[in-house]
Amino acid sequence: MTSIFNKPFTRQEAIPEAGIERAVEIMRSGKLHRYNTDEGETAESALLEQDFANYLGVPFCLACASGGYALHIALKAAGLKPGEKVLTNAFTLAPVPGAINNAGGVPVLVEIDSNYCVDLTHLQQLMEETDCRFFMVSHMRGHLADMEAIAELCSKHKVILIEDCAHTMGASWNGKKSGTFGDVSCFSTQTYKHINSGEGGLLTTNDEKIMARAIMHSGSYMLYQRHGTAPEEETFKDIRLDTPNYSGRMDNLRAAILRSQLPLLAENCLRWNELYDAAATALAATPGIDIPRRPAEETYVGSSIQFRPRDLTSPEQISSFISACAARGVELKWFGSEDPQGFTSRYDSWRYLGDAPVLQQTLDILSNTLDMRIPLTFHLQDMALVTSIIADELGKASTRKTA
Ligand SMILES: *Cc1c(COP(=O)(O)O)cnc(C)c1O
Repeated sequence: MTSIFNKPFTRQEAIPEAGIERAVEIMRSGKLHRYNTDEGETAESALLEQDFANYLGVPFCLACASGGYALHIALKAAGLKPGEKVLTNAFTLAPVPGAINNAGGVPVLVEIDSNYCVDLTHLQQLMEETDCRFFMVSHMRGHLADMEAIAELCSKHKVILIEDCAHTMGASWNGKKSGTFGDVSCFSTQTYKHINSGEGGLLTTNDEKIMARAIMHSGSYMLYQRHGTAPEEETFKDIRLDTPNYSGRMDNLRAAILRSQLPLLAENCLRWNELYDAAATALAATPGIDIPRRPAEETYVGSSIQFRPRDLTSPEQISSFISACAARGVELKWFGSEDPQGFTSRYDSWRYLGDAPVLQQTLDILSNTLDMRIPLTFHLQDMALVTSIIADELGKASTRKTA
């Protein structure tokens, strides 16, 4: 009898009781909007900003509507001008080039390496050959490139660094938290990220001018001093009337849900890694599977795993392997598919970019890259079953191939 896995890959854990209670309290009060506060009261959204700034160890945090929205206003607040180029990884999620486009910029795609990080040689070459003033590094699927090398390259070429930390909340490079290398950093609190409010975003920075502009952009009207970590009034002097309102605030309900999860983040990251490491060990021991190398400097959060079945070389072989796994309850995503499905995307499917150069290295790596979510509702025995199904089906696929 063939074993079947029957847990959903998209099921999150419940919101902690403290968050539910607080959310209900806020609903009873009717005061869901972040600027609807009584005299002397601090809104839940503002408290979240303080909590997250403290967590990350930075002076400023802005809570807003989504991760993609945070990336958009990060570029605007950092001074992107219409038509300016922005370097970014060729392997990232669609909201990243979308945010650049939304901010009036033009994405310039950088190759990735076989560990799913930005290719530093190509990055350096583009910095030398072009006059790009911005680099939006996307830590796609939680893979951190050498952040010290990136910071050095950016400072040498006077490039403003924006970090997309959608998958690296809780991760660090050489002991320094992801999100503290960039001039601005953006986090997502969308359901599948490391803290969950359905949708939501957090922007962080050390720069008071960037922060003041980001607050104004996010839709603060003249209530900007009601933010949890607002710069001094003086900083807003010119900015307050010169910065368009791109209405994208966070509400108190979502802030309440998130505040209750932040104290659990460190422990949850360890739980993710226990599951990830079990899956990675099992997959690495499976003949014909390549998994990315995780450098010693990287403290990752294994909320998903990527692997490449080396011997499945045609799209048909990969499709039928994915279908065979799906028939046994194991949901794999394929980033190499011609036509993007569900949440997957390949850079050449963003046709609005126009005639982007062909990035063969990235296409080759993605051609057989499979991706699997690791929700915290899974246990170690689930990882054992899931990886044994993958190994079993890969064995069958390889036999079919040679038959
Ligand atoms: C989820 C995600 C985003 C965008 O986050 P949203 O909150 O969904 O807008 C950006 N970059 C990456 C790599 C992501 O995975």
